[in-house]
Amino acid sequence: MHTLRASKYGLSIKKLPPSIIEVIDALSKAGYEAYIVGGGVRDLMLGLNPKDFDAVTNATPAQVKSVFGRRCRIIGRRFELAHVYIGRDLIEVATFRAPPKKEVTSAQGMILRDNNWGTIEQDFARRDFSINAMYYQPRKGIILDFCNAIADIKSKTLRLLGDPAKRFEEDPVRMLRTLRFSAKLNFKISDDILSIFTVDMAMLLRDISPHRLYDESQKLFTMGQLQRILPLLIDFGVWKQLFADIQPILNNFIVLAAKNTDQRIQVGKTINPAFFYAVLLWENFLERTQFYLNKGLVPAEARAQAGLDVLKRQCTRTVIPRFAETFIREVWEMQTRLLNPKPQQIESLSSHARFRAGFDFLLLREKSGDQDTEGMGHWWDVYQNLSIDEKEAAISKYNRQRVKKRRRTSSEAPLETVTTADPQAIEPLVVEKENTSRRARRSKARRTGMTTATNVRTADSNQNSTGIDDRHPILKRKRVQRDLAQVVFGPTQ
Ligand code: ATP
Ligand code: MG
Repeated sequence: MHTLRASKYGLSIKKLPPSIIEVIDALSKAGYEAYIVGGGVRDLMLGLNPKDFDAVTNATPAQVKSVFGRRCRIIGRRFELAHVYIGRDLIEVATFRAPPKKEVTSAQGMILRDNNWGTIEQDFARRDFSINAMYYQPRKGIILDFCNAIADIKSKTLRLLGDPAKRFEEDPVRMLRTLRFSAKLNFKISDDILSIFTVDMAMLLRDISPHRLYDESQKLFTMGQLQRILPLLIDFGVWKQLFADIQPILNNFIVLAAKNTDQRIQVGKTINPAFFYAVLLWENFLERTQFYLNKGLVPAEARAQAGLDVLKRQCTRTVIPRFAETFIREVWEMQTRLLNPKPQQIESLSSHARFRAGFDFLLLREKSGDQDTEGMGHWWDVYQNLSIDEKEAAISKYNRQRVKKRRRTSSEAPLETVTTADPQAIEPLVVEKENTSRRARRSKARRTGMTTATNVRTADSNQNSTGIDDRHPILKRKRVQRDLAQVVFGPTQ
């Protein structure tokens, strides 16, 4: 173990936010050991701006709670740790961990529970990369380096602690972390990792919960190095595990959107990771829409159904939260509205909550060579910067061209129009499907005083005094009348 002088590596207590110092000081005062560890130390050493600071201590989560009281919450089951809230900051405080006990490891070697407390020497070996395993005590001004991490910092090498194959089997998410840190820090991946990081190894990611994978995908999208990470995801076979149905091809649209996202992050603008999901899934959405059009659905229904289908498929890999799904479907729907707006709706469209994202998406499509936007990306780009008079003139000109186009196409498919009572009002972009879970139905029944469809159907015999259908779920299943003459009996029936 080497004890390094922090100041020699550019680290000083003055560079730390008060929240992390308060956590370290409070734990030390209570008689515990406490260090800053992980990305915070690593990024400071590399001269980068750390995203946050994590602490580690020999106090158990319950002891951390007794130090910080109501400012502390214990979270996690698989990996229990304490969240300490200092002002507006949240500091994660982990407890030194020993190797997990055998009985909490799956048949594939994956660690299912990791709450075996230990010493700092045991803790460093449980961390993923050498560069993430440096312990910084800011009051003492020292860094503890157990694995010559400083050499890897200098040679810009990402090295896993221990046997790489075993470490990936224990937690396959480390494969994603390998690619993420390599792209983010511009570090080379060590040879012993490269030799075992095969497409077969990447398949272990199938055992990871789609919730955790969604969180990881967000980190990949928001670290500011999408352009670097995307080819790595494809080369290492990780793409297929994260996005099963998306072709592993970096078309112009994806590349341009990645570049745009990275640039936004670089200049400190906010980004919504759901936007990049909308980009990645766009081709699938178009294909699926065509599928429903071919089946004879009207365009609006085809799009709505296609959007739901595509997102449902993606959720088998990364569970996209409901609000993000709605955002994605709205961005897609905006494409149709912006492509062919009714003249009287143009101004309200430009102040719609989803206009900005929809317009950015349209412009990126156009700039990447998509002819289907018919130049409307540029049109909206110009429109937004016009004076009121110029806007009116632009709308009149657009209207004349639109009428001409309609005459030309009237013999073909009619242009899609959305009808509303108020000609300037914008129809909702997506209609949310009703939450059909049993709990949601019950709470709705309670709210509305029992007028849901199910309740009406079962009103006579199956409702209790609250108007809720309380039969056993199996009895509530709708019986489907099947015409047996039309059923084809296959081997499984
Ligand atoms: P950043 O926060 O910049 O993304 P980080 O290295 O701080 O990077 P965190 O996810 O915040 O990453 O984790 C903090 C530390 O916990 C890591 O530096 C590492 O030491 C340890 N760690 C996190 N995830 C794992 C893992 N899957 N396996 C082993 N150690 C891990
Ligand atoms: Mg961190």
